[in-house]
Amino acid sequence: MGGGERERILTGIRPTGPLHLGHYAGALENWLRLQREYDCHFLIADYQVSDYADDFARVRESVWEVALDWLAVGLDPEESCFVIESLVPEHAELGAWLSWFLPLGMLQRNPTLKAELAEFGKRSAPVAFFTYPVMQAVNILMPRAHLVPVGEDQMPHIEMTRELARRFNRQFREVFPEPRGLVGRVPRLVGLDGRAKMSKSLGNAIDLGDDADTVARKVRGMFTDPTRLRATDPGHVEGNPVFLYHDAFNPDADEVADLKERYAKGRVGDVEVKEKLTRALNALLDPMRERRAHHEAHMDGVRDALEAGTARARARARETMALVREALEVDYLAGPPPARGRA
Ligand code: ATP
Ligand code: MG
Repeated sequence: MGGGERERILTGIRPTGPLHLGHYAGALENWLRLQREYDCHFLIADYQVSDYADDFARVRESVWEVALDWLAVGLDPEESCFVIESLVPEHAELGAWLSWFLPLGMLQRNPTLKAELAEFGKRSAPVAFFTYPVMQAVNILMPRAHLVPVGEDQMPHIEMTRELARRFNRQFREVFPEPRGLVGRVPRLVGLDGRAKMSKSLGNAIDLGDDADTVARKVRGMFTDPTRLRATDPGHVEGNPVFLYHDAFNPDADEVADLKERYAKGRVGDVEVKEKLTRALNALLDPMRERRAHHEAHMDGVRDALEAGTARARARARETMALVREALEVDYLAGPPPARGRA
């Protein structure tokens, strides 16, 4: 890479509700770390909300919610682009071309998609459910990104994106870097209820915007070791959500080690373990609350951030589309018409 140009990152979040600790530990924390090193595009993927198709009011609200969450965690829109997917129409255009290069079989083998499809149950999944992985690949390929920091559940999608880039580059010409996925410190944060993933749709999340009392209440209700009836019973630390959260969010390693030791011996109650977790979580969230309050009082600034970032992303998208059209040789009207018949 010459000219001192920074490598590019593309990563995104769907505007389907407030962001939570899973998003933070699995993705946002990495974004924060990388925002100064890379040329970052942070995308609000509003095309990819197929399970909310009947609730666009919620999508509209969530676009602002996500932007506020980003500002609250400390992402800097001066440094990076905040992009609204549907306001860069080139995404739809590239999606129309690239969906021809992604075999349906590849979607059907994707374990994350299989799990998501199962969630529709007896309801028929919308067609967009099968095209959203293409749109996700398009999001990554549009700015010709090199790196994609995501939670573990997204890695099969990154693999498909790499395959798509390889196919295109091989068949036409080298347009897209093969993007690398990068999983965060906590690949998949479990839910408050002990289920495999903290998720807004499962109602088992601590939101980044929750106030201190809400955090305390949610932690008090957290799933712990179901085999432990009294504080004097030896407890299980392994796989216990409360300790998984301590490991993930409590920076005081000595305190965590001490709690684990006493818990295993039946010498500490859930109440103390949970109170210390609440304290650690609120210490993490306090600076976010302050930044959020500041930005909530300056919503014009939030709008400016989205507008400027989307405009910059669109300029790059136009560049990419020019390269793609050239590679596909579909600029039909650019030159003279082909010769036909006799002059
Ligand atoms: P939810 O299930 O809460 O709706 P989501 O996974 O649908 O969240 P996305 O917008 O698809 O949200 O994901 C945004 C990013 O956050 C992705 O990189 C995803 O992997 C990551 N992420 C979401 N939830 C978790 C979690 N519980 N643990 C780790 N990473 C997560
Ligand atoms: Mg998801």
